[in-house]
Amino acid sequence: MQPFELFAIKYARNGPRKVGQNVIGGDLHEMGSDLDYFVWIAKRADRVFLIDTGMSAETAKRRGEDFARVPADAIRLLDLDPGKIEDIILTHLHYDHAGTLSRYPNARFHVQQTEMEYVTGPCMCSKLLRRGYEVDDVVHLVKSVFADRVAFAHEDCEITSGLTVHRVGGHTGGSQVVRVWTKRGWVVLASDASHLYLNARNAAPFPSVYRVDEMMAGYRTIFRLAEGSWDHVIPGHDPLVMKMYPALNEALEGVVVRLDVPPRGEFAA
Ligand SMILES: [Zn+2]
Ligand SMILES: [Zn+2]
Repeated sequence: MQPFELFAIKYARNGPRKVGQNVIGGDLHEMGSDLDYFVWIAKRADRVFLIDTGMSAETAKRRGEDFARVPADAIRLLDLDPGKIEDIILTHLHYDHAGTLSRYPNARFHVQQTEMEYVTGPCMCSKLLRRGYEVDDVVHLVKSVFADRVAFAHEDCEITSGLTVHRVGGHTGGSQVVRVWTKRGWVVLASDASHLYLNARNAAPFPSVYRVDEMMAGYRTIFRLAEGSWDHVIPGHDPLVMKMYPALNEALEGVVVRLDVPPRGEFAA
């Protein structure tokens, strides 16, 4: 099985945040972390996958995020042309993961069937559950279905050798995690199935949640898929990721890190 190179691109930040914004109950006193925002790239000679697309500058401004760069432009840092991207995996359709889809006119979107049902069904009558979505992103994806540009995954699905997706739900109706084969073994991109390391490691749910029982089961699934090592789990929004993993090169310090090499320092499971 040929390994993928795996990268995280940081595109925004949200903070300062109180602990109660990151953990239900907010009782883990030492853990009031800000959130970083990422998209991820899995790259191999035969295939390139963009995993999530981030948000637009306009959405970031309206929602008060500290926005650094448009992901569709930032992927050029890895010599990728958004117009030539063929495969995009959407871990879920929240505004910070599924924006600017029109920038990728030749891409097929891989999404869980249950996420599409969730964002187009009765749950969106709830202001609480729909507030993480931008309706224009959802509409774009609906139109993409009619253009044969959506590939629906159902629960666990191998998209190609060395890359699988797994529905965990919890955070939203059809949130999925992505498991990527790299030269250091399997790496699990948890996305919002675990915003921060502390959520999954302490089984402490993030407050943005649709079903707590699924979120808790998701933490166990992530750990199992990572073959029992937190070093092989990449949370969706943890600023520690930028500290633990090396920059692609000096010029991209604080922007692009490699996830296909072991983390620096001690963060052993
Ligand atoms: Zn989310
Ligand atoms: Zn998110």
